[in-house]
Amino acid sequence: MTVIYDKVALLGLGLIASSMAHAMRAGGLVREISGHARTADTRAVALEIAICDTVHASAAEAVRDADLVVLAVPVGAMGAIAAEIAPFLKPGATVTDVGSVKQSVIDAVAPHMPPSVHFVPGHPIAGTEYSGPRAGFATLFQNRWWLLTPLAQADMAAVARLRALLEAMGAKVDEMDAPHHDLVLAVTSHTPHLIAYTMVGVADDLRRVTDSEVIKYSAAGFRDFTRIAASDPTMWRDVFLNNKDATLEILGRFTEELFALQRAIRTGDGDHLFEYFTRTRAIRRGIIEAGQDTAAPDFGRSAEKT
Ligand code: NAP
Repeated sequence: MTVIYDKVALLGLGLIASSMAHAMRAGGLVREISGHARTADTRAVALEIAICDTVHASAAEAVRDADLVVLAVPVGAMGAIAAEIAPFLKPGATVTDVGSVKQSVIDAVAPHMPPSVHFVPGHPIAGTEYSGPRAGFATLFQNRWWLLTPLAQADMAAVARLRALLEAMGAKVDEMDAPHHDLVLAVTSHTPHLIAYTMVGVADDLRRVTDSEVIKYSAAGFRDFTRIAASDPTMWRDVFLNNKDATLEILGRFTEELFALQRAIRTGDGDHLFEYFTRTRAIRRGIIEAGQDTAAPDFGRSAEKT
């Protein structure tokens, strides 16, 4: 076990921050963890389950002497918290974030960062539909990607040190630029979430007509949709408001394909449907071969998503 940072400050004490705390503690990767949450309830839980050594009502107080500061609040709250802590950051400290969107977080946070501080934006591709400090667990990031989107002028040593922490927590780390990240995630996570939200909404409307049949005969596909659609409303509202362009671009393409399939069904074009489904089946096989999922029933998952 190697200590990578002496003191880490977690701002926002939800699923991601508490999972980081468990993982850092399990690996002996840091000496001290301070935390901040805006509500007294969350602070009390954080103390009760001992994910932090100290818990502060003030974010500025939490970052005092911290070598690494992690912004783990919803994407729309990143700018305000960055402005609040900026004057209190230790010179030479690294600030990272775990937001699901990168360019808008960079735009909101970077202008507040003092020149003596290294800002290295990041996003763990790991999560569950649960939120809050009690939802965290040490193995959340095990074998999951953690994408870093360093700025052009990033300090390589600071990036390498953060990468070492993330890898020691079990994550696989990759670097890319923020616009690329946002487009990739719009395809793999953001638009699928919107589709799940919509499908569950449609089924809910139907349920009023067919009583409880939608739930009673719910097959695995729809159950997966309901799990995804149970995700935190604040987090996902902020994701769509902050990844507007990429999500709208992918949604536009999705709608075109959906119309093509709709027409194939109406005109009885079975060849079109068969070819389309054959192509998508091959993509699924590719995901399994790349080790990103298992062929087990129910996708072999119990709790992960995004
Ligand atoms: P969470 O469990 O809902 O926790 C959010 C935390 O942020 C709570 O401590 C909450 O404080 C605080 N918070 C909420 N609104 C705030 C505001 N306006 N100002 C200051 N603090 C606020 O969330 P999470 O799932 O850990 O997500 C945190 C970040 O990780 C988000 O940016 C999200 O995009 C990203 N992320 C999430 C997932 C996922 O699947 N959940 C995956 C990857 C990345 P209180 O409890 O005191 O209200």
